[in-house]
Amino acid sequence: MAVERTLLLVKPDGVQRRLVGTILSRFESKGLKIVGLKMLNVTPELARKHYEEHVEKPFYPLLEEFITASPVVAIAAEGVDAISVARTMMGSTNGREAAPGTIRGDLSQSRQMNLVHGSDSPEAAKRELDIYFSAAELLDYDLNLSVYLAAGD
Ligand code: UDP
Repeated sequence: MAVERTLLLVKPDGVQRRLVGTILSRFESKGLKIVGLKMLNVTPELARKHYEEHVEKPFYPLLEEFITASPVVAIAAEGVDAISVARTMMGSTNGREAAPGTIRGDLSQSRQMNLVHGSDSPEAAKRELDIYFSAAELLDYDLNLSVYLAAGD
């Protein structure tokens, strides 16, 4: 058990389908803490960096076309075992096979357009957070407002 940070993306299909709030809400409701958040266009160069292990695969050209088609929302999320917690919540890659109750299983019918990305290891999380966020964009803050302590004004 360790507090981890992970890189999550709402992919272009999630933004175009107006599912940003729904997907963010599922991660937040689970208890993951958002420590970075932004909307951006993924360039072909960024796509090649992010998906470096897939660049030579036959599906890569279409994946690059998809991921660069329109903006994504990048989320840095923190929590105990955040990497595996988020991966479990996402479900398996192919939306048609992903288990009901998972984000992909409930909301996607595609192997490529599967709504979300989540880092799959601590090494990948570090590498991907570095790609999408500068150090200044990752925030440290405490959950210390009085609403957590007692009712108040
Ligand atoms: N992908 C694809 N065709 C495939 C396998 C993967 O288009 O046959 C896409 C899909 O969007 C997937 C991404 O490439 O999410 C990265 O693939 P990976 O195997 O790392 O899946 P993930 O970790 O996202 O479940």
